[in-house]
Amino acid sequence: MKRNFLQSALALAALAIAGAAGLPSLAQAQDKGLIAISMPTKSSARWIADGSNMVKYFKEKGYKTDLQYADDDIPNQLAQIENMVTKGSKVLVIAAIDGTTLSDVLQKAADKGVKIIAYDRLIKGSKNVDYYATFDNFQVGVLQAQSIEAGLGLKSGKGPFNIELFGGSPDDNNAFFFYNGALSVLKPYIDSGKLVVRSKQMGMDKVGTLRWDGAVAQARMDNLLSAYYGKERVDAVLSPYDGLSIGILSSLKGVGYGTPQQPMPVVSGQDAEVPSVKSILRKEQTSTVFKDTRELAKVTVAMVDAMLAGKTPEVNDTKTYNNGVKVVPSYLLKPVSVDASNWKPVLVDSGYYKESQIK
Ligand code: BGC
Repeated sequence: MKRNFLQSALALAALAIAGAAGLPSLAQAQDKGLIAISMPTKSSARWIADGSNMVKYFKEKGYKTDLQYADDDIPNQLAQIENMVTKGSKVLVIAAIDGTTLSDVLQKAADKGVKIIAYDRLIKGSKNVDYYATFDNFQVGVLQAQSIEAGLGLKSGKGPFNIELFGGSPDDNNAFFFYNGALSVLKPYIDSGKLVVRSKQMGMDKVGTLRWDGAVAQARMDNLLSAYYGKERVDAVLSPYDGLSIGILSSLKGVGYGTPQQPMPVVSGQDAEVPSVKSILRKEQTSTVFKDTRELAKVTVAMVDAMLAGKTPEVNDTKTYNNGVKVVPSYLLKPVSVDASNWKPVLVDSGYYKESQIK
């Protein structure tokens, strides 16, 4: 049928209205299937960004998504994943709360031909993990410790200084990589006496913080300060995550740190969360580690797209991440250390945050 001018104009107007109403554009209209995204919690901004970035990139490639957050509750995450399998998802992208608890549900998924990607956190004890997309987690710990090394001037021989150590959640494989990476830098100074852990609390069994809970870190810091730092000063605190750093800093403030007479110790962090970047600008927290969740989402979406097209996804590490059953082929992205000197180019000029969110 040949359209007259009015019909064509009407058709164009209808398309414009559909576009404005958020209806799928032609590029998005193809249906390449449902991808399930299981995230641990909304209590930390990074996971919210991870989820929404993936939804965006999957949609751009023609997939539908089912994004669920599990409130840091293990049974909840299990139930959500079971439901995702029932709904016919082709791929499960999972950032596990406890990386060891998923074997049964993953077996059920694999039996149905569902592919599985471990997202950011390794899934342990299961052969049914096809790929792992993450950052160089050991390097995250190295960067955290290097900011302490630089902040205290350890390389130029200064010291001795007092330090306390915090670890992440012991059910998260990453926590061990962060801790071991950090200790690879700090241990020689501890051995030589340039760093002193007055509490003697070392090792993930002693310094781990279940569920990455800032309140737990704050309570532990309160105890450390009252038991070991009556007269002595704590000069540095290794913290693996911004949410813990904020708790640790409040504890320190509570006993008078953060004044010209009693400056804050050097405190590390991770994730470049807005409250921590603000804290860095107030000269409270010293540093954080930025992990660009846009890049992690892109790598993951590319992995899924390749797998479903019958191609082999790109990986850059086939040695590091042994989950107890197999070495999971991985793609590791580079973490970046952020402090008062580089927050603007790294976080704002890259478009990750608007300057107005931080200042
Ligand atoms: C992630 C970190 C995050 C932590 C707490 C880890 O598995 O790699 O980026 O700080 O979980 O959410």
